[in-house]
Amino acid sequence: ARLVSGLTKTRDNIVSGIDSVFHGFSHIDDDFYEEIEEILIMGDLGVHTTEAILDKLKERVKEEKIKEPADCKELLIQSIKEQMDVGETAYRFEEEKSVVLVIGVNGVGKTTSVGKLAGKLKSQGKRVVLAAADTFRAAAGDQLKEWANRAGVDMIGGQEGADPGSVVYDAVAAAKARKADVLLCDTAGRLHNKKNLMEELRKINRILEKEYSDAYRETLVVLDATTGQNALAQARQFAEVADITGIILTKMDGTAKGGIAVAIQSELGIPVKYIGVGESIDDLQKFDSGQFVNALFD
Ligand code: GDP
Repeated sequence: ARLVSGLTKTRDNIVSGIDSVFHGFSHIDDDFYEEIEEILIMGDLGVHTTEAILDKLKERVKEEKIKEPADCKELLIQSIKEQMDVGETAYRFEEEKSVVLVIGVNGVGKTTSVGKLAGKLKSQGKRVVLAAADTFRAAAGDQLKEWANRAGVDMIGGQEGADPGSVVYDAVAAAKARKADVLLCDTAGRLHNKKNLMEELRKINRILEKEYSDAYRETLVVLDATTGQNALAQARQFAEVADITGIILTKMDGTAKGGIAVAIQSELGIPVKYIGVGESIDDLQKFDSGQFVNALFD
């Protein structure tokens, strides 16, 4: 129920139009498909993904000799699920000693997401250490400290402008001393300067390889769902500079553009691991594609 309530706007955006297509058309023709296409594109599934979904749908309709528009609904749901299939989504950092790097540009909800994730892991009984390695933005460390307090976990920080690598170095030492299960690093996201970002991530990864080689490494990118196609473009750019293992898609509660989750998984093959559905510590949910698509068309 919470999944659906957090996605009300996205759902309304897609479902109201789709239902009128399935019930408004008397037979399956080009207009019918065009109408579906338009709704999916308006729902922020993106042009490429939408085309792929429609190709699948048309093929199925032919194969199964479907004649009634209303009978296409299940096939459409199935086609979307298949299109966004990225296999079983793993959460290895919940199972073994790990370091989780979180990257994302300013304003997407990165600090909030790191705080929520710390709270979630802590509530699972894990020992969590936070590293405030996004030293570029003024007050980012203070804001993260508030989240660390809220989640009840330790945070290692540095001065504004400090070398992120040295913060990570200190945080690794703290994680070892405290026998942490998860070291959660809030790292930078200066996409306008890809070279710097790449260099910074390389440095951090080098330190982790050297000082914390037995920890499983996860790299999550935080994206703001309200930016729709922009979020997809950002994900693509981050994928060029880092080995991304998952995505946190924030602000799903306030947007009609949640369909971008379909485009992200379909076009990048990277799983959306969590969605943000509000501003408080509990407002982070594991993402399940199948459930998501069901909720959208329910
Ligand atoms: P950062 O600059 O990327 O670290 O972004 P912040 O974590 O400071 O978040 C920016 C704003 O987005 C804040 O006002 C957050 O409360 C808000 N925010 C973050 N995640 C969510 C979410 O899932 N839902 C909603 N409604 N707001 C969010």
